[in-house]
Amino acid sequence: MARVDRRTVLTGGAAFATVALPYGYAQARAPTTALTPFTLGVAAGDPAQDGFVIWTRLAPVPLAPDGRGGLSGPVDVRWEVSGDESFRRVVQRGHGEADARFAHSVHVEVAGLTPGRPYWYRFTAQGHQSPIGRAVTAPARDGQPLKVVAASCAHWELGWFSAYRHMAAESPDLVLFLGDYIYEYSYRSGDRQKHRAVRQHDREADIVDLAGYRNRYAQYKTDADLQALHASAPCLMTWDDHEVQNDYANRWSQNVDIDVRAFLARRAAAYQAFYEHMPLRARSRPRGPNMRIYDRLAFGDLAEFTVLDGRQYRSVQPCPLPKTRRGHVAAETCPDLAAPQRTMLGKAQESWMYEGFKRGRARWTIIVQDLLVAPLLQQSPSGLIGRFTDGWDGYQANRERMLTALAASGAPNPVFIGGDIHSFWATDVKVDARDPNSRTIATEFVGGAIAQEPPPAAAFKDVAARNPHIRYVDLTSNGYVSMDIGRDHLETRFRAISDRRDPAASASTLQRFIVEGGRPGVVLA
Ligand code: FE
Ligand code: CA
Repeated sequence: MARVDRRTVLTGGAAFATVALPYGYAQARAPTTALTPFTLGVAAGDPAQDGFVIWTRLAPVPLAPDGRGGLSGPVDVRWEVSGDESFRRVVQRGHGEADARFAHSVHVEVAGLTPGRPYWYRFTAQGHQSPIGRAVTAPARDGQPLKVVAASCAHWELGWFSAYRHMAAESPDLVLFLGDYIYEYSYRSGDRQKHRAVRQHDREADIVDLAGYRNRYAQYKTDADLQALHASAPCLMTWDDHEVQNDYANRWSQNVDIDVRAFLARRAAAYQAFYEHMPLRARSRPRGPNMRIYDRLAFGDLAEFTVLDGRQYRSVQPCPLPKTRRGHVAAETCPDLAAPQRTMLGKAQESWMYEGFKRGRARWTIIVQDLLVAPLLQQSPSGLIGRFTDGWDGYQANRERMLTALAASGAPNPVFIGGDIHSFWATDVKVDARDPNSRTIATEFVGGAIAQEPPPAAAFKDVAARNPHIRYVDLTSNGYVSMDIGRDHLETRFRAISDRRDPAASASTLQRFIVEGGRPGVVLA
C-alpha cells in the first residue's frame, strides 16, 4: 500500500489525532487506490450542544481474515462538517491518521458547532470519499419536539434489516441501540435450525477473538439499511450480552468450563471491536477488558437520557442450574433473586445514576438500557412458573434501589426503554415491584427485535393475568420503537415490519401510546 504524504500527517499514537484547519486549506494530494476504503458507512454519536462524534472505519476488504480490513500501515483521513447537505458551507474540517491499533477506525470529536441544528459530514481517504452522514446537535434550552427511534436484537442470519430502513425513513433526531447489535453465534451447516437463516455469517464457529469480532461488526456494517440508519442521525449505544457471549455476566462466561482469565481476554477483544465500530468518544476507549459506556446526555430542558451498562459490572446470575451459568426460569423460592448484596449495574454505576436522578431537571427522564425492567412471572419449558435469572428479576435488590432512588429524587417523568426480549411490551413500573397495587412511578416501553425469532409462546402464556402491570404485549412481530417527545406528552409507536425474511418488508404501527407529563403509566391511544 502506498504511504501517505507525511507532511500532512498528525501522529496521534493509538489515538486518532485531528486538528481543525483554516478555511481554504489546500487539500493535499492523496494516493488513490482502486478499492474504496469506505465499505462500512459512517456514523455519528453522542450529540452535545456544540458537537458530536463522527465515525468511520477504513476497510477496503471488510472481511479480510486477519481482521485488518485489507490495510496495514497508517492512512491519512480528512473530514469535513458542513451546514448544508451539498457541502457549500463547510464549517469545520481537519485531518488525522488512522492506524492498525484500532483497525483504522476514525473517531473525531467535533466541537464548536451551533446548538439545536442539523449538520452533514463526510470523510476522504486514499482518493475516495465516504457517504455523507447527517447529525444533529442538542438544543441549548427549550428543545423542539424530539423524534427518537430505538432498536435491539439484530441477527444477520435470521432476517434482513428492513426495520433499520424504516427507522431511517422516519428522519429521527436520535437513534438508540439497546443491545445485541451483533450476534456471536451462527447457524451451522448440518444444524436442524440452519434453514432459519436467510443469509450467512462470515464464519460458522462462535467468534472469540479480535479478528472474529471485528469481522462480525464489519459484516453487519456492510448492510445498506444499517448504513442508511446511521447516516440519518446520531446515536446513543448500549450493549447487551451478544456483543460478547450469550448470558455472560461481568467476568463470567455462561460456560462454567471457561475460566475468568480466558473469558476476560475474550471480553477485551469484544469490547475493543465494539469501540472500533461505534461513534464513541475517546473516554470510552477500552483499557484491557474494561470499557466505560454508561453515560448521560441532555437535549435542552426537554429530555435527559441516562444510558446504562447492564453487563460489565453485574453479579453472577442467581441460583444457577448444574454445570451452566445460562439464564433460566427460577422458582420464586430461589433466595438469591432478591439478595441485597447483588447488583446489575455495579456499585459505581449505581451511585452515579442515583446522583444523576437527584440533579435531573429535564421534562422527561429517559432511561436507556438493555432489558425489561418490570417484574415478569413466566413459565419455563418444563412448566415451572418463576423468574428469568438473566434479567432484572434476577437482580431485584438493584431494581428496588433504582426505583426507590428514582421516586425519591423527583426526577420528572421517568420512562424506561429496553430490548432483549424479542417482542413488544408496555408496562407500568411500580415503586414496589413486588406489590402490584403500589404507585406507578414510571412508564416502560420495550421494543421488538430487528431480526430475531419471537420467544416461545408457552413462556408467556397467561402473562397478562399473572402480571397485571403489563399493559400491552405483542409476541409475534419484529420491528422497532418510535417516540415523539414533546413538552406536554410523549407519544410512542410500536412499529412492526411485515416479514423479517423479506428484504423489501413494509412497516406498520402495531399500537400507539400517549404518556402525559405528570401522569406515569401506559395509556393506549
Ligand atoms: Fe437478543
Ligand atoms: Ca440479549
